[in-house]
Amino acid sequence: MTYVIATPEPTSVPVIGSDSRFPVRRIFCIGRNYSDHAKEMGSTVDRSNPVFFTKPADAVVTDGANAPYPPATANLHHEVEMVVALARGGTGIDPHHANTLIFGHAVGLDLTRRDLQAQAKDKGLPWDTAKAFDHSAPISAIRRVADGVPSGATELRLHVNGQLRQKTRLDAMIWSVPEIIAELSALFELKAGDLIFTGTPAGVSALQPGDTLLAELDELARLHTLIC
Ligand code: MN
Repeated sequence: MTYVIATPEPTSVPVIGSDSRFPVRRIFCIGRNYSDHAKEMGSTVDRSNPVFFTKPADAVVTDGANAPYPPATANLHHEVEMVVALARGGTGIDPHHANTLIFGHAVGLDLTRRDLQAQAKDKGLPWDTAKAFDHSAPISAIRRVADGVPSGATELRLHVNGQLRQKTRLDAMIWSVPEIIAELSALFELKAGDLIFTGTPAGVSALQPGDTLLAELDELARLHTLIC
């Protein structure tokens, strides 16, 4: 096959303990998945209606790389999230089988132009410019399921310039990972290479150029990012 323009390199993420990388197909995100964050945003949680949005695969920033402060915002926010990487997909997935599709877990940042998101919410407009901008998805290397899996007691943490800004146990999630996979698979055919950002707890706040971020999923995954 030849193409009329140069084809981009596929986006990929390192895998802990492997020389091979995880190729990213799509990035799905769930909103309002921790009640303390929904509350701080002035939102209520509707268990019957999960909020999903997407980011392009090439929004990924890998561990140790810089995330440029994006244009067109004066209020860039961090949202630390556990990320699930799928080895297999499907449609109409039974939540009881969903965990068997998971390749591994990582920790990521759903970087958000909060000012543009607030405008979009006010006007009933899409969130793309608030959520799906370039470099909006820093993510750690992926911990394979065979090398360790998170539990409800596993902690998700974010330090900014050495100060703890966000912290939660994973069992505070409103929709569990199997439920998220099942809900998404009713809307999309999930496939190998898809990443799912699983929502953020309370404590989101503004970032500035020069901020150093350390995100952790206990001992399973760690992400260093500099906002530049
Ligand atoms: Mn988020």
